[in-house]
Amino acid sequence: MKDIKIINLIKLYTLLLLSQGPKHGYEIIKELEDKLDKKISTSHIYPFFEQLKKNKVLIIERHKEKNRKTYQLTEKGKNLTKSMINRFAGLIDIAIEPRLKVCIHCACKVYEGGHNEILNKKKLVFCCKHCASTYKKLVKTY
Ligand SMILES: [Zn+2]
Repeated sequence: MKDIKIINLIKLYTLLLLSQGPKHGYEIIKELEDKLDKKISTSHIYPFFEQLKKNKVLIIERHKEKNRKTYQLTEKGKNLTKSMINRFAGLIDIAIEPRLKVCIHCACKVYEGGHNEILNKKKLVFCCKHCASTYKKLVKTY
């Protein structure tokens, strides 16, 4: 599978959209425009579809009425997309990790918000009020 390189977000999204099921070309373009907030032209995706088809990643089904085509991932295409998602999820973890705070009480990770309290002049991070109050009760008993 070395011959297929997913070098840009449009291609990545296209494969993700196709992994949801068979779609028409115009559906994919519309969803890409919504998600990426960018004008997408057919020249962005149709050569990519042809390339995917050549690599047996995609089946192009032609419909007689309205000359519409449906694009659908093959088994090989589904596996490719799955491994891509896994790799991508790993990257997202790496990107998010430094922004996480850890709740002092339960050790769960807090991405946004959480609950801060000042205790003995130190700022403490909790995931929620309940963890903070339980923690404070525990600290008092020592
Ligand atoms: Zn907590």
